[in-house]
Amino acid sequence: MTLTERDKKVIWHPYTQAKNAMPVIGITSASGPYLFAEDGNRYIDAVSSWWVNIHGHSHPYIAEKVAAQLSNLEHVIFAGFTHEPAVLLAERLLPVLPGTQDKVFYSDNGSTAVEVALKMCIQFWSNSGVPERKRVLAFKDSYHGDTFGAMSVSARSIFTDAFASYLFEVEFIDLPTDENIADLRQLIASQADNLACFIFEPLVLGSGGMLMYRAELLDQLLELCRDKGVLLIADEVMTGFGRTGVPFATAGLHNKPDIFCLSKGLTGGTMALGITTCTDKIFEGFYSDDKLKTLYHGHSFTANPIACTAALASLDLFLGEETQANLDRITRRHANFSAKISGHPRLKDIRQTGTILALEWETGTDTSYLSGLRDRMYKWFLDRGILMRPLGNIIYLMPPYVISDEDLDYIYKQIEIALAEI
Ligand SMILES: *Cc1c(COP(=O)(O)O)cnc(C)c1O
Repeated sequence: MTLTERDKKVIWHPYTQAKNAMPVIGITSASGPYLFAEDGNRYIDAVSSWWVNIHGHSHPYIAEKVAAQLSNLEHVIFAGFTHEPAVLLAERLLPVLPGTQDKVFYSDNGSTAVEVALKMCIQFWSNSGVPERKRVLAFKDSYHGDTFGAMSVSARSIFTDAFASYLFEVEFIDLPTDENIADLRQLIASQADNLACFIFEPLVLGSGGMLMYRAELLDQLLELCRDKGVLLIADEVMTGFGRTGVPFATAGLHNKPDIFCLSKGLTGGTMALGITTCTDKIFEGFYSDDKLKTLYHGHSFTANPIACTAALASLDLFLGEETQANLDRITRRHANFSAKISGHPRLKDIRQTGTILALEWETGTDTSYLSGLRDRMYKWFLDRGILMRPLGNIIYLMPPYVISDEDLDYIYKQIEIALAEI
């Protein structure tokens, strides 16, 4: 039996309606930007496997570091104990984050990093004797993860419908534009006394449809929040580690976050790891003889040494000259391609931030066309050896930084054909 057949008997896949899903593809190995399937097909991983494999697959440098760590220390409880990879990763990561970040709290993935950030902010205010500051401000189309707290601060959609009555209330705002920024600021000002924090995906709302907005408008929102004492949580789970062309999407902002959430690219896609960082101000809000002021949160695999080692190796690669050159190269090539297809009648919009390129298909008013479009596009590109996962009528590229010019050109070419054919 093939992997595909064995899988069907025993596995429940994420974000998948088993009844009408295409058969899953069995992958036997991967290298650089390529996935190799059991039937002999090869796929270019144009979405870095849900945005995590920033340096490509099976990177030999990360593999070597992880292998060495495995035979030295694979795991140890992180309450009451510590180890070199966790300490070193915190020492090396904090200085490269925008602004001043002082402490690292480890968890397992992006959603848990968000849960920790929300708990830090809400408890910070109750520890400080201001319990009425407990509401969260968030963007209406945002995505912050699939656990209950993360779902609560994310877009209410078909993904969250079944749980709607269990999600806590959030103050949702639209993305800022030149037209609405004054209204948004007024709304925040009027709610500020009850707001614990503002959680945002800087510059690009990923799962919400690669929606992009301007740094200076975000800065205006952050400035007001800062003035009003609202804590700032930058969810850089997707945008972190170069995705937007700069090391972190918040790097160019004047108002720096109090808290960062990191995951996805953190280990180069090698291990599951989440990080929530914060300033000393937040940490000190919990520093007390009063046991009730403790942050009672933790996971079995907190700061797993293998995962921290993978993150350290990924950070070495990320800080190398080659990575910045690749970011510039991909950014430039995406821009050239956008210019080439700009104005195409089949496209409603073309958006780019750094290495992220999103194309929104014109769908007209035919909703039956729209409903099947996503699946047709997914299959169309797979048949041509390209893994993309369209978000509705939006296709996007988020390639590993090591992707070659030839592979990029091949993908661009296929997109041009798709524009004529699909
Ligand atoms: C993917 C994502 C998350 C959730 O991360 P998981 O590791 O999938 O739980 C949170 N925030 C953003 C911005 C994301 O893109």
